[in-house]
Amino acid sequence: MNAPATLPGHDQYPRLFSPLDLGFTRLRNRSIMGSMHTGLEEMADGFERMAAFYAERAAGGVGMIITGGISPNEEGGIVVNNEQGEAAFAASKLSTDTEAAGHRLVTTAVHEAAPDAKICMQILHMGPLAYNEGLVAPSAIRSRIGAFTPRELDEAGIEKQIADHANCAKLAQSAGYDGVEIIGSAGYLLSTFLVEKTNQRQDQWGGSYQNRMRFPLAVIRRVREAVGPDFIVIFRIAAMDMLQGGMSWEEVALLAKEVEAAGATIISTHFTWHESQVPTIATMVPRAAFTRVTQRVRREVSIPVITSNRINMPDVAEDVLERGDADLVSMARPMLADSQFMRKAAEGRPEAINTCIACNQACLDHTFNMKVTSCLVNPRACHETLLNYAPTDAPKKIAVVGAGPAGLAYATVAAERGHRVTLFDEAAEIGGQFNLAKRVPGKEEFHETLRYYKHQLAEVGVEVILGQRVDGAIIKAGDFDHTVVATGISPRRPDIPGIDHPMVMGYIEAITGQREVGKKVAVIGAGGIGFDVTDLITHAGPSAALDINVFAKEWGIDFEHHPRGGVTGIEPEVARADREVWLMQRKETPVGRGLGKTTGWTHRLTLNRRGVHMLNGVQYRQIDDRGLHILVGNEPRLLEVDTVIICAGQESNDGLQHSLQKAGLSSEVVGGAKEALELDAKEAINQASWLAALI
Ligand code: FAD
Ligand code: NAP
Ligand code: SF4
Repeated sequence: MNAPATLPGHDQYPRLFSPLDLGFTRLRNRSIMGSMHTGLEEMADGFERMAAFYAERAAGGVGMIITGGISPNEEGGIVVNNEQGEAAFAASKLSTDTEAAGHRLVTTAVHEAAPDAKICMQILHMGPLAYNEGLVAPSAIRSRIGAFTPRELDEAGIEKQIADHANCAKLAQSAGYDGVEIIGSAGYLLSTFLVEKTNQRQDQWGGSYQNRMRFPLAVIRRVREAVGPDFIVIFRIAAMDMLQGGMSWEEVALLAKEVEAAGATIISTHFTWHESQVPTIATMVPRAAFTRVTQRVRREVSIPVITSNRINMPDVAEDVLERGDADLVSMARPMLADSQFMRKAAEGRPEAINTCIACNQACLDHTFNMKVTSCLVNPRACHETLLNYAPTDAPKKIAVVGAGPAGLAYATVAAERGHRVTLFDEAAEIGGQFNLAKRVPGKEEFHETLRYYKHQLAEVGVEVILGQRVDGAIIKAGDFDHTVVATGISPRRPDIPGIDHPMVMGYIEAITGQREVGKKVAVIGAGGIGFDVTDLITHAGPSAALDINVFAKEWGIDFEHHPRGGVTGIEPEVARADREVWLMQRKETPVGRGLGKTTGWTHRLTLNRRGVHMLNGVQYRQIDDRGLHILVGNEPRLLEVDTVIICAGQESNDGLQHSLQKAGLSSEVVGGAKEALELDAKEAINQASWLAALI
């Protein structure tokens, strides 16, 4: 996909589209695609796929791309099993000329797609978070989230790490990158030198703060020496590391100045160590929550500064730049969600942007489960060579029944390809269960997906018929060539004695407020919906996602005075509704274990702080006027509740499919209508997009 060299920009976003002169080179606008591991790095055809992935983003108008992290040596990276099942280093290491050759494919593709786009390679030495048995760190201290205890570096080992960084940067330069980003945050090697709890050395590399800064600064100097003056060197610092006893503001400010003096071109601000207990990118984090921290760093230095975290629409980026919080705005996941983000902004069409909802379900959760990264709202992300929506040469007249995520994805992809699509839903609005999800505090971003689909349906010319329950007769009368059943799911009503008692309600009634929830509540089922419902009914006051002060209070952050780590000594204060809630499941596993890997802990912690009782290994015996009778580990218990909310999973709405079958009409079934078990929006959209790409 080729793009004009420079996007015109748009009056709506003058700052976002203003170029930035770096002296020896120029960035075409103020947008950066932040570093994300794609999982392609480990694959046999990974470079070809990464080339297509990054080139599409360059053509889509982003100013500068930072690749996923690449280790400068074996000890800094991850060992994976190769196709023969042997332990091997993946392409996510760059320390030899041979390894550099693959990167050429990526840099060439990006520069061909957009000659004025820049691409920098991130050098990521994982230090104590590396996954190999030779891992190293300033001191032999195992991270709370690390797999192994690292070996303490000796003087020669330190010199090797510095030299390896310089060698890696030089190789990146030879592979055609415009620069490198060195990660000095997040609990990876360089940051562990900065902090006393991970650096207990008493030599020149530890002890005083000047000594603790010595290693990262030496890395910058040697990288600069290796690549010369006309190469972008970005250094990523933890501007607020969110650790109890973490870095003080004075240490951050001094580090920023020294980083500049050591030869960095740009400072990028990061806001966490992976082990911190504050969410910094999940959907319940307010948009642009951390940019004011970047602003303080920016005042300390004269080189450009990048901000990031939960900036997912162009107006948010423009506001950040207008306030002077930063010189450049990094948006990583938003570029997964929509490769054409900047082009659409340049055309003044923000409503056409497929917005990142910060769910982490197909990106970070995949990374941490060793799966290829993608995106819940855009399954093409990282699959650009495999999933394409090519124009059809045999247009069909298609009926799609159900305008939930599955039906919306199917209808829009099929219509984009040139099919004539009619989308039906019995409800008065599109969205299916997303209309429930969007009501949960902290899930406000789900509105954006519905806005996007509404726009997209009109853009690609789908006929939308709402308020129409579809049966076989309607399909027959419509004379369609193809019918897609995307009728979704209905909540399961478990077979518990007393299930028809008036105190029992379904999650739909609880979420929509159709019935009043009492003061003592039992929630049956602790899956994603059980957690969401419990969150909704125990929540009080404004949503933290919409109010930064509430967010700061709930997570114990002091943005103004910046105590060590931004959090030291502050007790989180969680507002909660006047309600006692029991959330329970039959499984013996800890409640909430099945939630998303990178976000589940935030939900568990929030409900714990609100005093929710979580019970596992529960057997439901009876519901009557006294409440809910259960057995927990064979001990009978009575929960004297006035409300029981059922969140016990779903069953497929397969009635239409059966009636079409009976009438001899063929159909294709997608989403929850096909399989309700473990079906979520990620799977619904993914399934529907692949099928619609083939019809
Ligand atoms: P549905 O969303 O159920 O849509 C089916 C549509 O078909 C409905 O609009 C219905 O009105 C229509 N329909 C049914 N029968 C007919 C008929 N005969 N004629 C016409 N129309 C018909 N998933 C995630 O991945 N991440 C989350 O964070 C998340 N949060 C959630 C929070 C809540 C509170 C809820 C309830 C769900 C959440 N989900 C989440 C689950 C996700 O919403 C579902 O997996 C997804 O909506 C399923 O999509 P679907 O299109 O298959 O079905
Ligand atoms: P779910 O995650 O499968 O949870 C269903 C819950 O019901 C489980 O706790 C299950 O636990 C219980 N259950 C199942 N059958 C039961 C029965 N017969 N009697 C009593 N309890 C029963 O499904 P969900 O919560 O309905 O969510 C639907 C989908 O949406 C899921 O795929 C989910 O991942 C997704 N979702 C995701 C999020 C998110 O934030 N990512 C949020 C909401 C929903 P036991 O069997 O142990 O009792
Ligand atoms: Fe954003 Fe979710 Fe897509 Fe990740 S999966 S890029 S968080 S929308």
